[in-house]
Amino acid sequence: MTTESPRCLVVGWLYGTKMNIYGDRGNVLAIAQRARWRDIDVEIREIGFGESIPDDVDIFFWGGGQDQEQVAVSHDMQGEKAEQLRTSIENGAAMLAVCGGYQLLGHEYRPHNGEPLRGIGLFDATSMAGPERFIGNVVVNSRWGILVGFENHSGLTWLGEGVEPLGKIQVGCGNNGQDGTEGAIYRNAIGCYLHGALLPKNPALTDWLVEMGLRHRYGSADLPAIDDDLERRAHETAMQRAFTTR
Ligand code: GLN
Repeated sequence: MTTESPRCLVVGWLYGTKMNIYGDRGNVLAIAQRARWRDIDVEIREIGFGESIPDDVDIFFWGGGQDQEQVAVSHDMQGEKAEQLRTSIENGAAMLAVCGGYQLLGHEYRPHNGEPLRGIGLFDATSMAGPERFIGNVVVNSRWGILVGFENHSGLTWLGEGVEPLGKIQVGCGNNGQDGTEGAIYRNAIGCYLHGALLPKNPALTDWLVEMGLRHRYGSADLPAIDDDLERRAHETAMQRAFTTR
C-alpha cells in the first residue's frame, strides 16, 4: 500500500509585521487552517525588507498599512523583487492583497503628502488619497457569491479599461465610492479594500485561494467539503450588520 506523502503549500506573507492592520493577519491564519483541516501541510514564510521573492510560493498575502508604512514598502518592492512577484503571479501563484498592499500592486499610489509611491503594475489601476476616509462595513457581489468585510481607507482606486473588479458594491464604498466597483482581479491575484479579516468570514474565497495554490504546485486541486457552520454564521451576522448600519 503506498502511503502518499501529504500535500503541502507555501504561503508567502509580504511584509507581515509591517503591513498588518485591522486584523489582516487573520487572512493568513484562515488560509493555513482551511488547508490543514484537509491534511495539507502549510509553511508560512514571511518576506520582509530586502528579502527576495522565493520561487516556490503558492499563495501570497499582502496586508494593509498606513501611508507611512507604504512609503518604505514601496521603495523595497521595486526592480528585481517586483519582477519576481509579477513572474510568480504570471506562473499561476495565488494572491490576496488588501488596501495598502492592493494599492501598491497597481501603477502607483499618490498619498496626501509627499511623492507618489510606485507600484508594481500587476493591476492596471491607479490610486490616490481622496478627501474623505471610507470607514464601514462592506458587502460585495462577486463570482464567489456575497463577500463581507470592513473598509478603512482614504485611497481611491481607478481600474483601467477591461480590468475585472472583485465585484460590485452592495453596501459601502469600495474602490472609489463612485463607480460601484470593489477590488480587482488579475489571473489568480485578488486586490481589495476588505479588511476584517476578510477570509475567515468568506470561506468560499479562502478555499478558492487554497485550490489555486494547490493547482500552482500540483497542477490539480481537490478540496473535500468541511463543516462551515461557524463561518456561515459569522458571514450572516456581518451581512446583517452591514445592511442595518449603512
Ligand atoms: N493608503 C491606504 C489608504 O487608502 C492605507 C490604509 C490601509 O491600508 N488600510 O488609506
